[in-house]
Amino acid sequence: MSKATDELFKNVISHAKEYGFVFPSSEIYDGLSAVYDYGQNGSELKNNIKTYWWKSMVQMHENIVGIDAAIFMHPTTWKASGHVDGFSDPMIDNKDSKKRYRADQLLEDRIAKYEAEGKTEKAAQLQQEMDDALKAENLPRLKELIIEQEIACPVSGTRNWTDVRQFNLMFSTQMGAVADDADVVYLRPETAQGIFVNYLNVQKSGRMKIPFGIAQIGKAFRNEVIARQFIIRMREFEQMEMQFFVRPGTQKEWFNKWKETRLKWHLALGTAPEKYRYHEHTKLAHYADAAYDIEFEFPFGFKEVEGIHSRTDFDLSQHQKFSGKKMQYFDPELGEDGKPYGNYIPYVIETSIGLDRMFLLTLINAYEEEDLSTEEKQDSRTVLRLHPVLAPVKAAIFPLTKKDGLPEKAREIMDKLKLDFNIQYEEKDAIGKRYRRQDAIGTPFCITVDHQTLEDNTVTIRYRDTMTQERVPADDLEKIIGDKVSW
Ligand code: ATP
Repeated sequence: MSKATDELFKNVISHAKEYGFVFPSSEIYDGLSAVYDYGQNGSELKNNIKTYWWKSMVQMHENIVGIDAAIFMHPTTWKASGHVDGFSDPMIDNKDSKKRYRADQLLEDRIAKYEAEGKTEKAAQLQQEMDDALKAENLPRLKELIIEQEIACPVSGTRNWTDVRQFNLMFSTQMGAVADDADVVYLRPETAQGIFVNYLNVQKSGRMKIPFGIAQIGKAFRNEVIARQFIIRMREFEQMEMQFFVRPGTQKEWFNKWKETRLKWHLALGTAPEKYRYHEHTKLAHYADAAYDIEFEFPFGFKEVEGIHSRTDFDLSQHQKFSGKKMQYFDPELGEDGKPYGNYIPYVIETSIGLDRMFLLTLINAYEEEDLSTEEKQDSRTVLRLHPVLAPVKAAIFPLTKKDGLPEKAREIMDKLKLDFNIQYEEKDAIGKRYRRQDAIGTPFCITVDHQTLEDNTVTIRYRDTMTQERVPADDLEKIIGDKVSW
């Protein structure tokens, strides 16, 4: 990360805290590693992102419905899904520094360093060696590579590593008052399985016809070995996932469709297209027949925000095997041979986006330190140029002064608007200062009520992005704001 981008990222993090977007969890006790709380503006912004996703995925598609499954699930779910046996990261400890690392991450950092230095051959060779070791689950080889690369081995020289072990990322707890081993339950590490186990219930109760989708927004928990980059890698986070059930053989076509549709969803917020890129997975999970990530260019480089995966019939077949319940779909439509397609286990295309990464992306994208200096004086402002539909507060209402009936008039206008929009009332400080505070949280409109308002019911409306102002009838406000912030 260059000095300037490092600085920018730090500024965004402190801005997020100062203006009530994101706080470290239980901060009065010095926080909890990789756990964060969303503040008063953060939770509004997060809710607006969720609504944008839900509306476009569920409401705009006749054949997609949404559910809200519990975080706790029957423990066999995670046996069937492969998480009990396989959801782990290779971990290694440095005995001298007492620091714990993800073995693959250490090597990936080294590969990135080689690439940055233009040593592409060395980078490719190490990548290949690491991939081979991971594929063969050869943990001693990973350790060898770390030692060979002299990672974390500066002048003083430390090679004192533990062996590499697999570390399961699922959090477990116990259910019921009398706990024994049989009562171990997990905090779900992904929301997808809540959809798979409800596939039959939804299909039957909703009389869903293939192709159809089930969507869900909810918390997921992963005991990440190392957490870094603020809310990019958290131990408690939120996912917005949709599983789309299709006829076997059509998965490629649907995969391509969802891959494109999802990128369009991101770009519709007005983000510059060059900030996004696809990343194709060459190492596929055993159950997948295609996988792409949508990556965004954060200040610290391109990072995955969303994954689009073609998961075949793996999950439903596994649940059929472990539960003994038939996960088949009867397809009455006629095939080319004139016979119905009949019974089959549907194939699944999944779109899975991290809400917290989407939140950070939105914040970084919107954040601007704008220089407003003129020849006469130096001036600047920090503004969040959020898309108006995502802005936490849609409009702020200011009485010019605290007397002459202006606060009452301002509140009267606010009372009408607050039925439809999240509105903030502010009477403290000079108008200029109030503008700056609203700019900092991304409020698209500021409305000032003055003495003229009492005479002709007009107000001054000031636009966040251009900072221009105009006089408009108070009765037009609902339309002016609504035009910009309604879905
Ligand atoms: P990564 O490779 O970055 O660990 P992943 O491939 O394990 O991510 P998926 O299991 O595909 O991620 O989860 C889907 C989405 O959930 C990711 O694209 C990401 O946005 C989000 N996500 C995954 N893990 C975390 C985490 N620890 N904190 C925040 N978001 C996460």
